[in-house]
Amino acid sequence: MKSRKYSLVTLLLILTGAFSFSSFAQTPRDFDAEIEAAIRSAKQAAGVEFLGTLNRICLLPTSGGVNTSDNLPRYVVDPDNIPPREQWFAEPMKVFDNFYFVGGKVHSSWALTTSEGIIIIDTIFPYNSRELIIGGLEKLGLDPEDIRYVVISHAHGDHIGGAQILQERFNAQVVMGAADWDLVDTYPNRYATMAPTRQNGRGVVAYDGMELNLGDTTISLWDTPGHTPGTLSYTFTVFDNGRPINVAYSGGTAFNFVNNTPDPGIGNFQIYIDSQRHIAEQAAAVNASVILSNHSEFDNAVNRNRMLAGRGDGPHPYELGEEWVQRYFQVMQDCARAAQLRLEQQLVQ
Ligand SMILES: [Zn+2]
Repeated sequence: MKSRKYSLVTLLLILTGAFSFSSFAQTPRDFDAEIEAAIRSAKQAAGVEFLGTLNRICLLPTSGGVNTSDNLPRYVVDPDNIPPREQWFAEPMKVFDNFYFVGGKVHSSWALTTSEGIIIIDTIFPYNSRELIIGGLEKLGLDPEDIRYVVISHAHGDHIGGAQILQERFNAQVVMGAADWDLVDTYPNRYATMAPTRQNGRGVVAYDGMELNLGDTTISLWDTPGHTPGTLSYTFTVFDNGRPINVAYSGGTAFNFVNNTPDPGIGNFQIYIDSQRHIAEQAAAVNASVILSNHSEFDNAVNRNRMLAGRGDGPHPYELGEEWVQRYFQVMQDCARAAQLRLEQQLVQ
């Protein structure tokens, strides 16, 4: 009798334990709380420096999917579609001893000068690269004939638009990631007037860890797929009154990939997140203290150029320090994680 009583109690205990265990196992994940935590983390990392990036990829609606059309760009079909100059023109600026801004109000282009010529980093549209890049170099006292390489972070019309002009006029070599060369090959109309094909021997296919050398200067190229499959980011050295400073250049930011369904969206966000970790590690390895992008929206280039004009003996407005560079990539990772969590949430609902 006693033993029977004992076993009843044991059974009750086991049942209670099993019940509470199963209720614990079935507690649904609080996705809303996880998403909010990721966004809070991004906001904290962004601080006052990276509000544009935070806004674009954490707060505003996500950029839509992937462009699969092979239509000629509107501004090629009809020059009346070229935006008015006041929407894109910005003054060129010498930013460091060997580094110049030759971009526009919205999209950036840069010139890295070396002992053997100029490396252009990203171009702009076909309709404004002549004035902004070629004209900008001339205004700054540089000779566009010295352009040797054009390094393209990714094959979207706002960054590859002027590549073909620079290649044809100055015989510059265009450097781009393999998957983005494939995009150019796949959509000949969309990229009409923008980029040479690699078959003509004047295209360089970049790979992860590649060192592009020109004279006394090296740019390290890093595969950071996500924004496009072939997006490149870079690390390189600039000089401020002779003092070397390392730069991390983030090549693609918005979520321009299939991102509205769990498959392949969750995987695509993971590729993007892994890429930001990769370039963040490379930036940390060289103690990068400047973060640059190809949109002023993300790195405040045009505003920093204004500050630079009134710098005097003050600190360099682009030099934020190593911690801020790391915080930039944290914003990207956290915002991508928040968006990825939304897709994971869809899977269990
Ligand atoms: Zn893009």
